[in-house]
Formats: sequence, C-alpha cells, structure tokens
Amino acid sequence: MRKFQILLLLFAVSTSVLSQSYSGYLSSDLKEPTSYNTYVEFLQKVSEASPIISLDWMANSFQGRRIPYVTISENGIQDTGKLKFLIFASQHGNEPSGKEALLVLIKEFADGNLNQFLSNIDLIIVPQVNPDGGELGQRRSYNDLDLNRTHTNLANPETVGLHKLFHKFLPEVTLDVHETYFYRKGWLNYGFIKTYIQQLGILTNPNVDEKILEYSNNKILPEICEYVEEKGFSFSNYILGALYRGEPVRHSNPGVYDGRQSFGIYNTLSFLIEGKNGRTPNEELSRRRDGQYENILGLIEHVAENVDEIKTMVGEARDKLMNSKEGETVSIRSVYELGADSINVTLHDLKKEKDTVMTFPYKSKVVSTLDITSPKSYLIEKFDHVLIDLLNKHNIKYTPYKFSSEDCIYRYTILEDTISISDDKFFDVDKINVTEHTDYNDYVFVPVNQLAANMVRLIFEPQSMHGPDSRHGLIKGKKMEYFTDINGAYKILRLESN
Ligand SMILES: [Zn+2]
Repeated sequence: MRKFQILLLLFAVSTSVLSQSYSGYLSSDLKEPTSYNTYVEFLQKVSEASPIISLDWMANSFQGRRIPYVTISENGIQDTGKLKFLIFASQHGNEPSGKEALLVLIKEFADGNLNQFLSNIDLIIVPQVNPDGGELGQRRSYNDLDLNRTHTNLANPETVGLHKLFHKFLPEVTLDVHETYFYRKGWLNYGFIKTYIQQLGILTNPNVDEKILEYSNNKILPEICEYVEEKGFSFSNYILGALYRGEPVRHSNPGVYDGRQSFGIYNTLSFLIEGKNGRTPNEELSRRRDGQYENILGLIEHVAENVDEIKTMVGEARDKLMNSKEGETVSIRSVYELGADSINVTLHDLKKEKDTVMTFPYKSKVVSTLDITSPKSYLIEKFDHVLIDLLNKHNIKYTPYKFSSEDCIYRYTILEDTISISDDKFFDVDKINVTEHTDYNDYVFVPVNQLAANMVRLIFEPQSMHGPDSRHGLIKGKKMEYFTDINGAYKILRLESN
C-alpha cells in the first residue's frame, strides 16, 4: 500500500515536472506573436511530455525553416479508423492569432483538459503554414507569393507540404484559420466598419457534393454561431464586398486555388475562419487569439459529436468521385449572383460609436457560367516534367497509356484572336480530333474516376478559372507559353470514348 502511494506520488511529481517543461512558453497575456523558435521549442517539449501528442515536420519553407505539425490522438494516429480533422493556420504571415490559438489548443490537450474529444477523433495541426512570412510580419511568403492562391499550381514548398499531409491522412474535415482587416480606407471614409470578431466560411464551389454544402450551411453555421456568441464573440457567416461602394454582400470566391476549397473539392467537409485582425499588428492579440480558439473548439466539439454522420456523408461523397464518369457535367467557371433575398449586416458606426444593423443586397447564389463535359481521361506526355510533377504533388493517379481503337483523342487550340486576356473576358478554344496524328506511346493516362476527379478537371481544362488569380486557369500569362505551342495548341489532351 505504501509502495503504491509512493509510486503515485512519484507519478504526480513527474507529470507536473513534465508539464512545467512546456507551460512557460505561452503567455496568456500576449503582447506580440510567439516567435518561430519559441513555438518550435514549445512543440518539442509538449510532445516529449504528452503521450497523446506527436511532433513531425511537414516541409521546409522557402527560406529553409522546418514547418512542424503535430498529431493528437489517443493511441497514435495510424489506422485508428477515427475521424481525422486537419487544422492549419497562418498561411498569411501577418495573421498570427490562428497560430496562437492552435498552440493553446495543443497545450490544453496536453494538460488533459480536452481528452473527451479523442475517443471519436484524431487531430492533425499545422500552427503556421508560412513561418517565413510570420517572422517578417508580412502576408506573403518570403518569395512574395500569396500562399492561399497557390493550392492548384502548388508553386511553393509550404503548400506542397500541406497537400502532401492531406493525402497522407485524408482527413474528413479541414479548417484553414485566417484573420481579416476591417480598417481599410474605403470603410473608414464610409464611417462604418464590420464588427464581427469571428467569421466562418463554408464551401461554395458548385462541384462539391450537395449534401456537404447543405450540411455546412444548415447545420454547422447556425450551431457554431450559437456556440461562439455564447462564448462572448460576435459571429457571422464569412462575408465580403465593398459595401461602401454599393457592392452587394457576397461570400468569398468559389475558386479552388485556396486552402478551404482545394481540400473541399475532394468532398471534404472544409472550412475557413476569418478572425478580426487588429488595427495595428499586435492590437488586442490575446482577445483575437481567444476568439479564434472558441471558434475552432466549437467546430471540434461539433465534429466529435457528429462523427458517424460526417464520416458517412464524406465517405459516400468521395465514393462518387472515385466513380466519376465520362459525360458528367463539371462547372469550370462560376460566379456569385444576386438571390431574391437581402441580408442584414451589423456595422459599427464610427461617429456614433455604436453598432447598427443595415440591410444590403445579397449575392447569395453561386451559378456556373461555363460547364464542360467530362472526358474519360486526360493524356499528358510522360517526358513533360512540369505536368508530371504537378500530378505527383496533387497525388493524382495515372498509368502508362496504351492506344485502343475505342479511343477518340482531342486537342484544344486556343483561338489566337481571343488570346489577349483581360480580367473579365476569357479566350475561346477549338476542340480538334487528333486521334490519327500522334504516336501516343509516350503519353500517360489520367483517368477521371479517382478521388482527385474534380481537381484534375478543374486544373486541366484550359478555360477553367481555378488558377492562382481566381479568374483564369493554370495557363494564364507567362504560363501560357508553357501549356501551348506557338500555334496555340494545348498540351493536355482529352480522351473520349468512340
Ligand atoms: Zn488570410
């Protein structure tokens, strides 16, 4: 008996020593963002101290910083069959509060305060996708890219690593945490600014499975709204638009070049958080972090309580992708349009220093502006290192191609007189049968019946809008030279059945 008590005492002492080993790194009253070196050391200590937390590395940043991620799981994350939830933050280096909230979340799990969720779910957490930008206090990466526009071309190692992580674990749920700046000149001159401390964005790309869109809109949004407001933070569905210029309210672009939609296109239940940024970089940083924390925790709680429903919904929707067929309609361009309804927005009246509710026209509907019919597969030259590399980065499946007499092969030609690309216009294409003309032994076959079905069709169709500038495909501008020859012939071929 005494021996047992001593053992128990020793155990209590050793766990408290271990928790001391990591608890000093995070300050509850945060004056400035936690530095890269400090939080990496925190993650090392916390993963040594806690049996449920493992530390690993996602990629090296452009400047060579190792980008850490942690998994939080009762018995180790491999093959547990539990629902997996990937959360990542700070793709934009000057939006630190998401990272800070995730560090607190990791500590709360290590301290044993959130264990109840782990019987149902495993977590994969990337506190800071863009450490180079974070250290510089700038939005963009060190080499001046907006990383949240690089999820289709995978132009930088940070997003390549993030997509590799996604394919390693195939989480059913993903969340991308950001901050948004309310104090732009147009708003200040208007005399009103938005008030919401927390905004949650849901999927809006029209190719995402309807059940996932409905679930996000009808179940998640109202529930999380109630949860976050109860914790003392004002909340809204993520809204955009220069209302001061008379623009209607809309949600963010349905393009799949960003973190939320690029994972959503795999029929993942995927979200974006936009917390309120400070007027100055560090203004009210603790409160910003706390708002993010509650929104994230609200989602974790919802997901943990609805594991079966979400797993079934995502599983069935992904099966549809695996069974994608030639002839299906796919939307490659879409826009927001005015719906019948208007929307109430709470704005802060800067003169009267009080909140006021105003009504605005509302672009609530996403409509497709260009559909294509799916081919059976795309064909790509096997020596084309740029495109083969892109297939590999996206984990897109392909096999060597063997010509069959059943196959009809088509090549797009970009029509030269429509090639000058302005913002709101897009070039035209011709589709020419080239079955007879080429030796196809040097091509690989990229079938559409795979998990990446929609990613494939959205990045390979030349008229798609899902490239990094949200209006054009991967082929715009400088890249155009790469994807087409001097006569405008497009490199990626379409294979259709005879
Ligand atoms: Zn952002």
